Amino acid sequence: DFMADGIQPQPGILDIALYQGGASHLDGVSNVLKLSSNENPLGPSDAAKEAVMRATHDLHRYPSTDHASLRAAIAQVWDVDAARIFCGVGSGDVLKLLAEAYAGPGDEIVFTEHGFSMYPIYAHACGATPVTVPENDRVVDVDAILAGCTDKTKLVFIANPANPTGTMIGNAEVARLAEGLPAQTLLVLDGAYAEFVDGFDAGKALVEARENVVMSRTFSKIYGLGGMRVGWGYGPQAVIDVLNRIRGPFNLSAAALAAAEAAVRDTEHTEKCRIENAKWRDWLANALAELGVPSDTSTANFILARFADEAEANACDDHLRSEGIIVRRVAGYGLPHCLRITVGDESACRRVAHAVAQFKEAVK
Ligand code: PMP
Repeated sequence: DFMADGIQPQPGILDIALYQGGASHLDGVSNVLKLSSNENPLGPSDAAKEAVMRATHDLHRYPSTDHASLRAAIAQVWDVDAARIFCGVGSGDVLKLLAEAYAGPGDEIVFTEHGFSMYPIYAHACGATPVTVPENDRVVDVDAILAGCTDKTKLVFIANPANPTGTMIGNAEVARLAEGLPAQTLLVLDGAYAEFVDGFDAGKALVEARENVVMSRTFSKIYGLGGMRVGWGYGPQAVIDVLNRIRGPFNLSAAALAAAEAAVRDTEHTEKCRIENAKWRDWLANALAELGVPSDTSTANFILARFADEAEANACDDHLRSEGIIVRRVAGYGLPHCLRITVGDESACRRVAHAVAQFKEAVK
């Protein structure tokens, strides 16, 4: 095309496929059950919905630019320092701004083979080189990451728990990773699913002990506020100051700020969601295992169901779709024989198990 020799995006951007995961309807199918985006089946706290309604009273006003009220709530609930919290438009925004601020052409960003699909995109978008290292049976491998770092590595991204595998590594392993990194490398601990793990610190202690660790968290998962787009990061003061320089001054809407603040304060609702998720996740994993569809022990709000091969995974997905159930194909994550299934409520989990049983019966 006529721009071929003229205006060009950063190298690699045109190789990125457009995001495919957003589908929430199926043509000609009613009663669709969407289990493809790891959303909370219980939805947000009532207090969060009421806060959004109240925010509509002042919509002619720009929102807070320093997010002080939300940061104070997060600081209180998670016992962290409000001055070192950064708020972004979903945690994806926090991760992308970290890449933009700390990496560019000639630099490398390291993540693992089944790491979150946006990591290579953040790398390409800032002109850096994405570097993929192996995992150990779908578990993040600290030694492989350390071996994959060079003097050009500016960032390492790991999600813990990880998406789409659902597996996690312990705090001692994460600490060993932080200690072993080159001096110029920032470790980013993506804690999108951290709240689903009972009592998990997700990086707070490491952030407070070290200069080279940042953690990110989201309101899209356990808080049930994916539609509001709020995430946060916790890191060294110097890193937070850098992120604040490059973000939009009014990046979070008034409704989003109000919803997130109410949601984080409603710890009773959060706890209820964690307990329900763990109960139905384990039920679903057992039910599918009994049908011959195993999964790794998940610590998040989804399971990675493993089939004999890609053909069986796709055939099962086709059957689920015909039954109105949308799950996630993960061939793009290097897992073509797997399907990622969000843990829904009781009736959703029973519907999935029933449909997989029908599928297995039909192919027998
Ligand atoms: N990290 C991981 C591991 C995720 O799974 C997701 C959502 N799929 C995100 C980050 C980004 O989510 P959000 O921008 O909604 O916070």
